Amino acid sequence: MLRTHNCGELTIKNIDKEVTLCGWVQRTRELGGMTFVDLRDRYGITQLVFNMDTNAGLCEQARQLGREYVISVKGTVTERSNKNAKMSTGDIEITVNSFEILNEAKLPPFTIEDNTDGGDELRMKYRYLDLRRNPVRNNLELRHQLAMETRNYLSKLKFIEVETPYLIRSTPEGARDFVVPSRMNPGEFYALPQSPQQYKQLLMVAGYDRYFQIVRCFRDEDLRADRQPEFTQIDCEMSFITQEDILNTFEGLTKQLFKSIKGIRMDKFTRISYADAMKYYGSDKPDIRFDMRFVELKSIEADAASQGSLFHLTNGKDFKLFDEAEIVVGINAKGCSEYTRKQLDELTDFVKKPQIGAGGLIYVRYNPDGTLKSSVDKFYTADDIKLWAEKFNAEPGDLILILAGKTEKTQKALNELRLEMGSRLGLRTNDTFAPLWVIDFPLFEWDEETNRFYAKHHPFTSPKPEDIPMLDTNPIDVRANAYDLVINGVEIGGGSIRIFNKDLQKKMFTMLGFSDEEAQAQFGFLMNAFEFGAPPHGGIAFGFDRLCSMFGGSESIKDFIAFPKNNSGRDIMSDSPSTISKEQLKELSLKVNVK
Ligand code: ASP
Repeated sequence: MLRTHNCGELTIKNIDKEVTLCGWVQRTRELGGMTFVDLRDRYGITQLVFNMDTNAGLCEQARQLGREYVISVKGTVTERSNKNAKMSTGDIEITVNSFEILNEAKLPPFTIEDNTDGGDELRMKYRYLDLRRNPVRNNLELRHQLAMETRNYLSKLKFIEVETPYLIRSTPEGARDFVVPSRMNPGEFYALPQSPQQYKQLLMVAGYDRYFQIVRCFRDEDLRADRQPEFTQIDCEMSFITQEDILNTFEGLTKQLFKSIKGIRMDKFTRISYADAMKYYGSDKPDIRFDMRFVELKSIEADAASQGSLFHLTNGKDFKLFDEAEIVVGINAKGCSEYTRKQLDELTDFVKKPQIGAGGLIYVRYNPDGTLKSSVDKFYTADDIKLWAEKFNAEPGDLILILAGKTEKTQKALNELRLEMGSRLGLRTNDTFAPLWVIDFPLFEWDEETNRFYAKHHPFTSPKPEDIPMLDTNPIDVRANAYDLVINGVEIGGGSIRIFNKDLQKKMFTMLGFSDEEAQAQFGFLMNAFEFGAPPHGGIAFGFDRLCSMFGGSESIKDFIAFPKNNSGRDIMSDSPSTISKEQLKELSLKVNVK
């Protein structure tokens, strides 16, 4: 070893010890006849001291040290006269006897400090320098801890980690595949896995019963902010289980991670059906750190389902917007009745933004004196409005915000408004964690453009047994044994119980528009495997990068990936993707118009 200690471990207990440290020069400063150097490594910073009076030559050399030089230092641990309680090594310093420059360094393009002066692009270009900074290093250490805890927890439960291949067959479902040309098989391609889905199911057929893998997945999707083309999942599969077992096992894992890493004990996770999530929050990933559930004043769908009608609350008062709406739905912003005109205008502008797309915002103030004032007083009497307020359980001091229109669009818009109000009211702090299982997802999703069904989760997801008869009559209403784990409105993971019956799987492919030949060509290996004794099985995958960012209290997953891509999917450090040579293209039998 070139060093006896690291830069974060020496304390008052080590006084008078002769030590050798190695690290990077964080900074040097001169104070009277003394020169101080902060020496940094992964573990911390230790102060080095050089004295002009006792060793002028050495002190002179120390003054020449540039930022980020790599040095090795021999010296004696001494008590500091000026202690720094903020540092673990703050009680001591090293009186240096000799040092050696192991390597010089160019001046870094940004400061290697917690608060750096480097912008995003620059930090990504020099990511290895950015990784020297504490906040980034702490994030990667947190990531490592989460991975270790996960492995331990699952291993104790007899899960085994099995690596599945990265070069696989391209399948048409899901997102777009990244493909890799095969040199030895001209004109043929591998795909990089979007997830190990089919392999983990094959492992169940193989009898491995409890599988997990912390695994890289690849999806060639249009990039949205904070999406990475390659990302990591905690991927799991179990045999001879029901949905309940999966939920309990992975609730257990989540609780263990929160307990051991954040010291937070969590109660049993709330569950909500997909249908209720849409009805009460307008989202399949509700943020339940705060309540503010939707209240419907009119809903064609709910009325049809309950065979009652709420129309009397809104219709027949010549208010066209409500008369024509499929849904009139709102939230109660508690304690906001005194919002100013300006604040209400801001909210109206917010819901009218094209991404949100509401036509306008209707409000009812429940004034502290008990009177009600609404933006539709022209159409409705005080008694009408009073009925609304009752439906909302509103009290003096509250502000009711209402949207109306087409059901899905209005629910989605109100979800945005609800989140906005939650933020404005400080109800979405990132040190509270509100986990939620969303269950009973629909099996299919109808796509207007291609005029066909898509699997909402993936084509291997099992319908609820009691809904199977509806596959032929009203497939859109068929519910799946599929579930998502949502924390603070962020989807952390999702999975399903799988189809393990060949005929049902075949039927599913037919419903998804595959001919028998197409299904055989694409998924034949899985369907064939199902003929050799497939056990009932199911699984789940957690987005590991997102989990890390949630634990780290950050919105950005990039901060938790050592070498992330930028928002256009580029690695700006290595400048990839890049063109390849004509020779490489030829070898791969590819014809590309080379720039
Ligand atoms: N493979 C699925 C996904 O990546 C997860 C699962 O169903 O287990 O979303």
